[in-house]
Amino acid sequence: MTTLTKEAGAPNPAGTGPLLSVRDLHVSFKTEDGVVQAVDGLSFDLERGRTLGIVGESGSGKSVTNLTILGLHNPMFSTVEGEILLDGQELITARESEMEKLRGNKVAMIFQDPLTALSPYYTVGRQIAEPYMKHTGAAKKVAWARAVDMLGKVGIPNPRERAGDYPHQFSGGMRQRAMIAMALVCDPDLLIADEPTTALDVTVQAQILDLLKDLQQEFGSGIVFITHDLGVIADMADDIMVMYAGGAVERGTTDQVLRAPQHPYTWGLLNSMPRLDSDPHAQLSPIPGSPPSLLNPPSGCRFHPRCTFQDRVAGAGRCVNERPLLGPDRASACHLTADQKRTIFVEEIKPRLG
Ligand code: SF4
Repeated sequence: MTTLTKEAGAPNPAGTGPLLSVRDLHVSFKTEDGVVQAVDGLSFDLERGRTLGIVGESGSGKSVTNLTILGLHNPMFSTVEGEILLDGQELITARESEMEKLRGNKVAMIFQDPLTALSPYYTVGRQIAEPYMKHTGAAKKVAWARAVDMLGKVGIPNPRERAGDYPHQFSGGMRQRAMIAMALVCDPDLLIADEPTTALDVTVQAQILDLLKDLQQEFGSGIVFITHDLGVIADMADDIMVMYAGGAVERGTTDQVLRAPQHPYTWGLLNSMPRLDSDPHAQLSPIPGSPPSLLNPPSGCRFHPRCTFQDRVAGAGRCVNERPLLGPDRASACHLTADQKRTIFVEEIKPRLG
């Protein structure tokens, strides 16, 4: 599970402690209108072989967090503070040459749209073989054989022949499989999957998710899985972190967060999403309002302009004035007491979920 086990600033020797440890991460961007605080004090750990699902609306900071882990932010326009340790190695202060060695080798990413990751000018086999050659020093023939092997592993029929095809000769689902093969070819410790199945139809989506689970078992990678789809998260993740307006608002095992969520934003997400097992006539309730601008975020609890529970919090104006913090382990960043969270969920939220 996501646990806070180590004091910030105390790096782990490689191979011990969490695979990925993010501490008090702040990421801001300069824009013409001012500074956007895209990530504001985020901390989490990911253990080896586990999948952390990060869920939240657009603009919650989930994709920015993961691009920052990969060192893909533009230092000209962004400021990054905090600590990101991958297997004990600090990434925020790493030189670009070090990050280049890590990307594709120790950490790899699967994007939503494979066409942004695959070049139309090179064969699929070459695009899988080249990072393998670069990171392992393998000869061309060996790397090609590895590319064919990987295409077979991700379920591309006739991989020997198809390795010589260009991306446009693959269907959408096959391109996604090819991108997974490319991401896994060097057996990375950490795989970041950003909405990897959103563009696919439901059947292909299910196949790709099964494939990722099988490959994780085989390769033992830790996966950070970003999505806005709680159904996909339920299927894929061991642990869940819910993000809102640049910070984590709830964290726990998948079972804890989906069966007994503690944060009003998580209740809103669950209420607003259709589920296969719910009454088809049940009315979905969207969360009122829209996510805040991170140019000028709300004071106190960032969810307060949309929260219908703030009048239950003891202490007038507390939600508007005091930012609730996320504690360690199973936690939610909300001023309601643990008893209130439990009672509201059981008596008011759960019956609506069906
Ligand atoms: Fe709602 Fe207040 Fe909890 Fe924020 S702290 S989620 S405004 S009840």
